[in-house]
Amino acid sequence: KKGVTDPDQVVKKYLETIDKPPDEDCIICMETLTTPSGYSETSESKSIKSTAVGKLKKCGHMFHQLCMFEMYSNGNKDGSLQCPSCKTIYGEKTGTQPKGKMEIFLIPQSLPGHENCGTIHIIYTITPGIQGPEHPNPGRPYSARGFPRHCYLPDNDKGRLVLELLKVAWARRLIFTIGVSSTTGESDTVVWNEIHHKTEMTSNATGHGYPDAKYLDNVLAELAAQGVSEDCINM
Ligand code: NAD
Ligand code: ZN
Ligand code: ZN
Repeated sequence: KKGVTDPDQVVKKYLETIDKPPDEDCIICMETLTTPSGYSETSESKSIKSTAVGKLKKCGHMFHQLCMFEMYSNGNKDGSLQCPSCKTIYGEKTGTQPKGKMEIFLIPQSLPGHENCGTIHIIYTITPGIQGPEHPNPGRPYSARGFPRHCYLPDNDKGRLVLELLKVAWARRLIFTIGVSSTTGESDTVVWNEIHHKTEMTSNATGHGYPDAKYLDNVLAELAAQGVSEDCINM
């Protein structure tokens, strides 16, 4: 399943070379595109020239190719690129979620605001471990607080669609990451990663419960921002 991950090759795959760059700034290094990349002196690219400029194929944003190389090399090098201007994703974005388990159950009780159906119950289990090279402090331990975490979706068409997309996001390691918890301030710990979950079923003491009429649309947009949309599944 792993495609091209060599940084030079990834940059070449998604950037079209521009022969006459416009007099605009590269938003990665802040130098103009008509002068060499700000990373010319330090880059470890074997084949990309410091003056090469490229245009991303779908969104059309332009950068020094060497700057894209640096951006990619500083990420998790999964073969995907994300435009730093407009966030368009090229290839399949993956995250750094540590090992764990996602389980799904049905509850024959409805959620506030979704009275006509039952409830999908998701349980995420992650245990503490040692950080890998993709994490903030490789080799150091990470903690995992508040697991298993219980999450709820209405068992209707839209809720089932969200569930299928969450399974894709889980497989791509996008649901959790390791970092600083904004709730507790603890670092080197497992935290939610930009895809909101509802962790309360019958109350809403934390603001992460029901009713919330906008929740399903909001989480669909958050999934799409990670490159996970209906195109990823065949229901
Ligand atoms: P975080 O605090 O860094 O927040 C990351 C995102 O998660 C934010 O978008 C935030 O809005 C959202 N979030 C915060 N609290 C949430 C909640 N209760 N339910 C759903 N989403 C929530 O990330 P984090 O540290 O992973 O978030 C706090 C979560 O961790 C909560 O679910 C809390 O129950 C759990 N937790 C439990 C313990 C414990 O000892 N029981 C300790 C720490 C955290
Ligand atoms: Zn640049
Ligand atoms: Zn763009």
